[in-house]
Amino acid sequence: MYYSHIFLISFMMFTVISCTSVDSLERNSLQLIPQEQLIERSNQEFDKLKNKSTLSENKKYLAQIERVVDRLSPYVPIPDGLSSNDWEFILIEDDDLINAFAMPSAKIGVYTGLFKIVKSESDLAVVIGHEMAHVVAKHGGERMSQNMLALGGSIILSHATRGDSQKDRERLFMIYGLGSSLGVLLPYSRLHETEADRLGLIYMAQAGYDPRVAIPFWERMEKEKSFKIPEFISTHPSSENRIMELRSLMDEAMVYYNEE
Ligand SMILES: [Zn+2]
Repeated sequence: MYYSHIFLISFMMFTVISCTSVDSLERNSLQLIPQEQLIERSNQEFDKLKNKSTLSENKKYLAQIERVVDRLSPYVPIPDGLSSNDWEFILIEDDDLINAFAMPSAKIGVYTGLFKIVKSESDLAVVIGHEMAHVVAKHGGERMSQNMLALGGSIILSHATRGDSQKDRERLFMIYGLGSSLGVLLPYSRLHETEADRLGLIYMAQAGYDPRVAIPFWERMEKEKSFKIPEFISTHPSSENRIMELRSLMDEAMVYYNEE
C-alpha cells in the first residue's frame, strides 16, 4: 500500500509540471504562477515591508547602492512584464543583519549590517549582482511553485490515506514531509544560489567590476558568521562550498571582464 501512495506522490511531483525555460540558465524552470500575478503580489509584499521596516537614510551607503544598481542594470536581462526602470532598492536599518534580498518584481533590500563586510563598491556588486540574478532567473516564482506542488501533494496524500490507520498516515506524512523538503525544496534552493552566483559574477564583470573580489568577500562572510548551520539542513550553501564553486565559475566570468 505504501508503494502505491509513494507512486502517486512521485507522479504529482514530477509529471504534472508545466515548465518554461529561463534565459541564460540552460535548464527548464518550474513556473506555475503567471508572471503578472507574481509581480503584483511581489509589489504588495515590498510595500508592506517598506512600511514595517526602519529605512536607513545613510547617504553614503545609499549612494553606493544606487551607483552599483545603475552600473549593473544595463547588463541584466530584465524578465517579461518588467522594465529596467523597475529596479528599486531599500536600505533597512539593522546593523546585526548581514544580508540582502531580492523580490520577483525587481525590488532589492539591503540591511545596514551588510556594510560590516562590504569594503568597496565591487564587494557590493557581488551581493547586488547575485540578488539581481535571482530576479532574472525567476527563482522566487519557482520557489513558490515548488511549495505549491508540495502542498498539493500533501492534500492528495491526505485524501488517499483516509481509510488508513492513524499510525500509517503519520508515517506516510513523515516520509512525504522529509522527501519534499530535503529531496526537492532544499536542493533546489542550493541550485538557485549557485545559479545566482554564476550570473551575478558575469553581470559584475560586464559592468567592469573585478569578479575575483567575490572570493575574499565570501571568505570574510564566513569569518563573520558566529555559528554554522550544517549544510544538510541549510538553504544556503556553506561558505566553503560556495568558495569552491566560485573558483570554478571564475574562468567564465573573467571572459566578460576587461581590466582597465
Ligand atoms: Zn541568494
